[in-house]
Amino acid sequence: MSDRSSQTPAIVQLSGVSKWFGAHQVLKEVDLQVRTGERVVVCGPSGSGKSTLIRCINRLEKHDSGSVTVDGVELSENTRNIAAIRREVGMVFQSFNLFPHLTILENCALPQIRVRGVKRALAEEKAMSYLKRVHIPEQAHKYPSQLSGGQQQRVAIARSLCLEPKVMLFDEPTSALDPEMIKEVLDVIIELAQSGMTMICVTHELGFAKKVADSIVFMDDGSIVEKSPPEEFFTNPKTQRTREFLGQIL
Ligand code: ADP
Ligand code: MG
Repeated sequence: MSDRSSQTPAIVQLSGVSKWFGAHQVLKEVDLQVRTGERVVVCGPSGSGKSTLIRCINRLEKHDSGSVTVDGVELSENTRNIAAIRREVGMVFQSFNLFPHLTILENCALPQIRVRGVKRALAEEKAMSYLKRVHIPEQAHKYPSQLSGGQQQRVAIARSLCLEPKVMLFDEPTSALDPEMIKEVLDVIIELAQSGMTMICVTHELGFAKKVADSIVFMDDGSIVEKSPPEEFFTNPKTQRTREFLGQIL
């Protein structure tokens, strides 16, 4: 992947972000900068705070201290700021969350109509163009239950892209899929990465990480232990904790 110049401004910036669930501190003064066009893969053991970290970027979770800034707008109680940030940040989860009673086309068109006030004809046109991009235009008039898990996840990606986010967050997008469907979803995310989309992707698919990531973030116990380019991360990890983690999964 091409080198992203360090001159490119940070589009996502977390500074000293902490988050507690009750007495349990799940994010411990996390600092993270993601530059426009950067592809970041986040890995780490279960419970280390990966989901909480990315959910704090679009306010699905509220951080307790520190600051989160997206494209120059700081996340605060200000609902206008929250709305502005959510407009720029797309998210794809492990579960696809498609509306079962709507067709694939409607699933992709409706958020544009409801959230953006786009006219139906235009919304459907855009939905079709993104369904083509994820290679399932022929499924447009089916319902989610008629599609495989891999196809549904590609619809979820298309639905999110229809809102033209500047940053995409993925939280283990292939973890709920049967093994034979993982590749078709990763391939779509790889194409998106190659198109220059800024993305933060939590995943255990380290082959994918090697292929697309500009940097890999390793989290453990609420902290970012290491952020390195993949070639360094895999061959010369900075900490003993990273080495142990890689030893377990490689
Ligand atoms: P990961 O995604 O790395 O597996 P999470 O961010 O989901 O980790 O969780 C980090 C920690 O926060 C875990 O100990 C988890 O049990 C806890 N946690 C996550 N969500 C909640 C919640 N809504 N209420 C209480 N504890 C939570
Ligand atoms: Mg998680």
